[in-house]
Amino acid sequence: MKKIAVFTSGGDSPGMNACIRAVVRTALHEGLAAAGICRGYQGFIDGDMYDMDHHSVSNIIQQGGTILRSARCAEFRTPEGRRKAYENLAKFGIDGIVAIGGDGTFTGAHIFMQEYPDIKFVGCPGTIDNDLMGTDYTIGYDTAINTAMEAIDKIRDTASAHDRLFFIEVMGRDAGFIAMAAGISTGAEAILVPETHTDIEGLIEKLEWGWKNKKNSSIVVVAEGDEAGGAHKIAEMVKARLDHYEIKVSILGHIQRGGRPTCMERVRASRMGAAATRALIEGKSNVMIGIVNNEIVYTPFGQCIKHQQMDSNLVEMVDLLS
Ligand code: ATP
Repeated sequence: MKKIAVFTSGGDSPGMNACIRAVVRTALHEGLAAAGICRGYQGFIDGDMYDMDHHSVSNIIQQGGTILRSARCAEFRTPEGRRKAYENLAKFGIDGIVAIGGDGTFTGAHIFMQEYPDIKFVGCPGTIDNDLMGTDYTIGYDTAINTAMEAIDKIRDTASAHDRLFFIEVMGRDAGFIAMAAGISTGAEAILVPETHTDIEGLIEKLEWGWKNKKNSSIVVVAEGDEAGGAHKIAEMVKARLDHYEIKVSILGHIQRGGRPTCMERVRASRMGAAATRALIEGKSNVMIGIVNNEIVYTPFGQCIKHQQMDSNLVEMVDLLS
């Protein structure tokens, strides 16, 4: 292996820069050349790539976003697009690639390697949703849940001052891990996630109980993909039945994707980036790096699908504590 490139793809997440830095510095340390590819697979097709040295990744570990930009690229799904990508990689002398992204990014890499086996890919899980098989943590999750927690703490202050009921929507189209962590850490009265059936009657009973027991605020955290609807729709359903509450809705939105990565985020992203580079050098490919029980593990791309299992103990605990 002579030159290792790194790119970020799919939804961006805080900590991607720490991972990029680790890939570049590990490759250089091992005597290889390093490169960055911009805007996900679009940069492969457009030849938007550049050589990186030690200083290319200076002073980025604390920054959110990704210095390489990210994108979704329809053309890479076509054989013609992947041929253009291959030609550009060959021209640039790239023979190993660290892909930082989600399951779609790894599927693209897997297909590409079947067509062009001389280029090797290893993945690092980059998504705020923490919903990939093969790792306890994805890059971005820890920062996203801390951002959501801080925002909800602030909303709790104003909710208590006015005896209000807030429905707060957090990110998670298919997964409720952000909602669960943000909700538990802020003492939410209820947490609604796509993985479990949302019982509106039960929710109303619980909120009614809170009212009767003189709770001076209530917070319901809703994952955006909850099957009963988003926070607005669920708030409307509840409002129709609980007119004594003043009900407000807050959608946290994209603030959950940005911001300075937390300490653990930077540490884990650095570990994964370094491990991915070493894995390529050792001849591994077609695998995603993960951290399971604090150990680095390798999971074949084909198995890095999204998982939807929510720890049932957590779900029970939410009911018990609220
Ligand atoms: P996120 O979890 O943030 O959605 P992701 O990596 O799953 O991240 P996707 O948009 O699903 O994001 O995939 C990223 C890119 O990977 C796509 O824009 C496309 O270029 C490529 N890709 C995804 N699936 C395929 C596929 N079946 N064939 C070829 N390329 C693919």
